[in-house]
Amino acid sequence: MSSIADNIGSVTRRIQKATLKAGRGGGSVHLLAVSKTRPADELRMAYNAGQRAFGENYVQEALDKMDELRGLNAIEWHFIGPTQSNKTRQIAEAFAWVHSVDRLKIAQRLNDQRPLSLPPLNICLQVNINNEKSKSGCALEDLIDMADAIEEMPNLSLRGLMAIPDPDQPEAELRSSFRKLANALKQMRQEAPGCGPLDTLSMGMSGDLEMAIEEGATWVRVGTALFGPR
Ligand SMILES: *Cc1c(COP(=O)(O)O)cnc(C)c1O
Repeated sequence: MSSIADNIGSVTRRIQKATLKAGRGGGSVHLLAVSKTRPADELRMAYNAGQRAFGENYVQEALDKMDELRGLNAIEWHFIGPTQSNKTRQIAEAFAWVHSVDRLKIAQRLNDQRPLSLPPLNICLQVNINNEKSKSGCALEDLIDMADAIEEMPNLSLRGLMAIPDPDQPEAELRSSFRKLANALKQMRQEAPGCGPLDTLSMGMSGDLEMAIEEGATWVRVGTALFGPR
């Protein structure tokens, strides 16, 4: 069994290689270590190997780990799970990023509940890119209206878009899903330029991060390849 530090090394090399192959600048793709279901000790190992950004899907589990890992300097917490209205206050108070904002009601609550002592909460809009009935995420058609509304929310910083395309679809269709998300971000930059930095594409996981990087990912969310199967 390879160690978490080794795995971070090999995933980092995969990211560097794909970034170079895509002709993109070194350092333009960030690694989010998806640590759902993993114990705090394993996050500490990843931290000691240099990892700073961690992605969590469940609020209470994340808060427990934050408690255990308090004192780790510059650790950065990203919420990537389904957003429920009754959890927005805890999310707004504890996280630096939310990748999974899928409706305006959630954005408004996060804005209203973000403590003013903290910098604006970085958010991505999650898009249901394959229109799957079972998946959360907003429709591509709604993005511009949502961005216009978020422009009026001073405690949020709209960084971009996130998607979880079905990883089991044929390669060509998976690529086209990533490309659709990248094109949607370009369109937002043109049609809603004032709504936030719009510098982020959160897409790609353990199995498909190379393809996502070729299509423009700036954050890849990697769990299994770092921590092993869940
Ligand atoms: C679990 C999860 C991941 C990580 O997936 P792996 O295949 O384990 O790398 C990425 N993004 C989201 C939203 C997840 O829930």
